[in-house]
Amino acid sequence: MNSFDVVVIGSGPGGYVAAIRAAQLGLKVACVDKRKELGGTCLNIGCIPSKTLLHASELYWKMVHEAEQYGLKAGNCSYSFKDMMSRKDKVVTSFNEGIAALFKKNKVTFFPGAAKFVSPTILQVAGEQIEAKNIILATGSEPIGLPFLPFDEKKIVSSTGALALTKVPERLLVIGAGVIGVELGSVYSRLGSKVEFIEFLDRICPTLDEAVSKELQKILTKQGMAFRLSSKVTGADITANEIVLRIGNEQLKGDVVLVAVGRRPYTQGLGLETVGIAPTAKGMIPIDNRFRTSVPNIYAIGDLIDGPMLAHKASEEGVAVAEIIAGQNPVVNYMAIPNVIYTNPEVAAVGLTETEATTLGLSVKTGMFPFKINSRAKCTGEEEGFVKIISDGDSDMILGVHIIGAHASELIAEGALAIQNRLTTLELAHTPHAHPTLSEALKEAALGVHHRAIHR
Ligand SMILES: Cc1cc2nc3c(=O)[nH]c(=O)nc-3n(C[C@H](O)[C@H](O)[C@H](O)COP(=O)(O)OP(=O)(O)OC[C@H]3O[C@@H](n4cnc5c(N)ncnc54)[C@H](O)[C@@H]3O)c2cc1C
Repeated sequence: MNSFDVVVIGSGPGGYVAAIRAAQLGLKVACVDKRKELGGTCLNIGCIPSKTLLHASELYWKMVHEAEQYGLKAGNCSYSFKDMMSRKDKVVTSFNEGIAALFKKNKVTFFPGAAKFVSPTILQVAGEQIEAKNIILATGSEPIGLPFLPFDEKKIVSSTGALALTKVPERLLVIGAGVIGVELGSVYSRLGSKVEFIEFLDRICPTLDEAVSKELQKILTKQGMAFRLSSKVTGADITANEIVLRIGNEQLKGDVVLVAVGRRPYTQGLGLETVGIAPTAKGMIPIDNRFRTSVPNIYAIGDLIDGPMLAHKASEEGVAVAEIIAGQNPVVNYMAIPNVIYTNPEVAAVGLTETEATTLGLSVKTGMFPFKINSRAKCTGEEEGFVKIISDGDSDMILGVHIIGAHASELIAEGALAIQNRLTTLELAHTPHAHPTLSEALKEAALGVHHRAIHR
């Protein structure tokens, strides 16, 4: 029987990173995935394909709607959806191969096939048994469906089907205006679909700072998307030609319905009962502060455990769990994990929202700076949005950074660095920032906490 120090189940951003880090630390490592392509949800049906389509559709949108403001004549601009999808597939494949090369370089053995527990140290994988001193569960998550709208991934789609449609639907109904909903809704809206969201809560992307969430809805509405908030889809009639959603007494008709109401941890077929690991009511694997499950040599990371379902959060945990198994003492700082929504403009946040900080009883101070008075944003015509910094009034420590605006996904790294290193707003404000750059808006927002912004 093949025997390893560590076997990682799942090759997503949690699993493959854990495998590489464990191998770097001198351990004999294997990784198992029931998909033959490496990279998990993030690479195959998540972050990477969605960002590739978001970029292509944004370029098209800008050519059609914004080129003229720059003095550009884009002419009769059109697109090939087939080519767009095939570029997306090529991007994904190149990274599948990239991870395989990294496994080879780091001597991580890959076993394609579904893993199932035989005992706490033995796994059954595609007709063979492998032995492991330590096992890391990184089997990720799956989309949550609605009982009256079973996924066929053609007309009633999860994010997976939405990333693989063969044509752009005329009418797309999106149930759930969270991150995945607004990103994929944006893709199809830009390509010409009439997109309408039905959201149970009274605002979109509810984990965002309230001011940011409101601004995002305003901007997406201006781009042509429609939002029905505080609305619950209670039933549906599915015919060959269309889907009719029932929202109380009202009806909404669409050609394709994207159900984006959330994701749940995925542990199906692992045989957790064989080793005595019991998921919570929400399907999560309970762990201690060293990622250890109720069975001491079995660990869990990523979407399977508590916390935001984000690729980089899973990767941070992957590194940490490998180091713990190798006898080190790493810490993951969850406060410094940013989250991003890749709409146009982008939204990015790290740390606490104003409401969260106030609820904790902190004496909150805020500073805000709009991009419409930032010089670089003026040059590039990307003037929507603002930066908002939340700080602790007593210590001046930065508690949260919230950005809605162009390239927010890149700008947020400064906020994460500030929170990771417990910087104060004055330390950020006194750091020289190049001119003209969007990052100057962070400096000005930090100065704004002290009513010292220069350009406002
Ligand atoms: C449309 C979409 C867009 C997203 N965009 C972003 C984004 O922009 N940024 C971001 O940070 N996050 C994003 N996410 C979330 C991100 O994809 C997840 O948080 C991340 O993939 C979780 O990583 P993981 O390693 O925990 O699990 P996963 O990536 O889900 O990987 C789990 C792997 O385990 C395998 N597996 C499951 N059971 C078994 C078994 N029994 N045996 C063997 N293998 C098994 C699966 O095949 C899978 O490959 C997005 C998700 C979706 C759906």
